[in-house]
Amino acid sequence: MGTGDTRVRSTAVGNTAVAALRASFEGEVIGPADDGYEEHRRVWNGSIDRCPALIARCTGVDDVRTAVRFGREHQLTVAVRGGGHSFPGLSTCDGGLLIDLRPMNGVRVDPDARVVGVQAGVLLGELDQRTQEHGLAVPAGIVSHTGVAGLTLGGGIGWIMRKYGLTVDSLESADLVTADGEFVRASEDENAELFWGLRGGGGNFGVVTDFRFRLHPLGPQVMAGATFWSMDEAERVLRAYRDWIADCPDELMTIVVQRLAPALPVVPAELVGRPVIAVVACYAGNVDEGEEVLRPMRGFGSPVLDLFAPKPYVVHQQVFDPSFRHGCWYYVRSCDVAALTDEVIDVVAEHGRQITSPLSSIALWQMGGAVARVPDDATAFSGRSAGFTFNINGNTATADGFDDQRQWARRYWTALAPFHTGVYVNFLMEEGGTRVRQAYGDAKYRRLSALKQEYDPSNSFRLNQNIPPG
Ligand SMILES: Cc1cc2nc3c(=O)[nH]c(=O)nc-3n(C[C@H](O)[C@H](O)[C@H](O)COP(=O)(O)OP(=O)(O)OC[C@H]3O[C@@H](n4cnc5c(N)ncnc54)[C@H](O)[C@@H]3O)c2cc1C
Repeated sequence: MGTGDTRVRSTAVGNTAVAALRASFEGEVIGPADDGYEEHRRVWNGSIDRCPALIARCTGVDDVRTAVRFGREHQLTVAVRGGGHSFPGLSTCDGGLLIDLRPMNGVRVDPDARVVGVQAGVLLGELDQRTQEHGLAVPAGIVSHTGVAGLTLGGGIGWIMRKYGLTVDSLESADLVTADGEFVRASEDENAELFWGLRGGGGNFGVVTDFRFRLHPLGPQVMAGATFWSMDEAERVLRAYRDWIADCPDELMTIVVQRLAPALPVVPAELVGRPVIAVVACYAGNVDEGEEVLRPMRGFGSPVLDLFAPKPYVVHQQVFDPSFRHGCWYYVRSCDVAALTDEVIDVVAEHGRQITSPLSSIALWQMGGAVARVPDDATAFSGRSAGFTFNINGNTATADGFDDQRQWARRYWTALAPFHTGVYVNFLMEEGGTRVRQAYGDAKYRRLSALKQEYDPSNSFRLNQNIPPG
């Protein structure tokens, strides 16, 4: 990339203005001609190729305020990046200002008070590492290189949610820089409506600089892993799985995966590339108890591989990392369904057998437990009553074959359409305003829109699953 790229030239910010920004900014301000531009403009999804005019790498709240005010003054399109894992690449832009929070990676654990302060550039793995040193955890997601910020602002689902709730259910407060560059704290006692909106409403209301979470006891050893069967067995496995989880304890969280067996050291060479269905699980409680609970499913039928074992929670948290490497081409379709009916199982079995890319997969998330016990209107997150959440990933290493995988994901999702009940906002691509509205439902959407009117009436923060001010 050079300065000749028209996407960059489309922004008119004079050299004097950029020099003034640099002078008042503690972190780096990177333009297309600077070292590091290529590295820092990239996001996780390799199919997204955008070129901001400026990248403001913030080191703290003052930098964020300066950057927000600069963007406003120069009427720049503003993108905000935490971990850069937005599926549709909403955390970057062409020709605008990228507010990059990744250098803000501080984690402060208070094990006695069981709280943790987390800056907005922290990744899940960094958070888990620090909290697990004390046998504590914040419920978060399942890939350790995902950003805490974007995940939390959408809700946050993961391995220990059925025991301890969504990520937002452990949020005590959040600090935010508004579109005017003002600093605001939101909690149950301060700016309570904003606090409600931040727990699921995404990055619509400003730039969050810090989160404070309650911590929960966990491990550090947990019973976790996966059992694999041949995809030919999909219907039988799914029916047995449905019966097995019907009365399971909240400590158990499972995800059913369909894919071609990956080329990993733990997978025997003769299995690599064969279509498989797996039950992946984590037991957020006593290890022996976990072993008992898992026994019936692990023993079902004729598994081709069993990888369950007691292990550190931080190790299990990285189990999906190699399947979602930075820079590959990713496309996702998602929906919630109420139940694994026979009809849903038939769709799953049929479309799982059509997987052709070694990187394509589906994750079928078991919901419920503590997530479902929080009243639906307590937070902006919607979908607490979902039975299962589908994440259908049509992925490739490069542009080669990407269209085919996208079509497969769309076909799978469309076949599930009669059973859709909603969608998790963090699993949306850029699917348009109607889909964002569907993610929240009409009542919540109106409430979020009013909140947007209060905090960002000119829609400065629109590169997100946007809720226009209303
Ligand atoms: C590999 C992978 C695994 C995932 N696993 C899970 C999972 O287990 N559970 C789950 O719930 N979700 C999961 N997700 C979805 C994930 O929650 C979203 O993609 C989330 O947006 C990622 O957060 P981020 O900070 O990395 O994203 P970014 O791309 O940095 O940001 C995403 C959005 O949030 C906004 N944003 C980011 N930081 C801030 C901030 N500080 N203030 C205001 N707005 C901000 C951005 O502007 C953008 O619109 C996964 C995604 C990927 C790609």
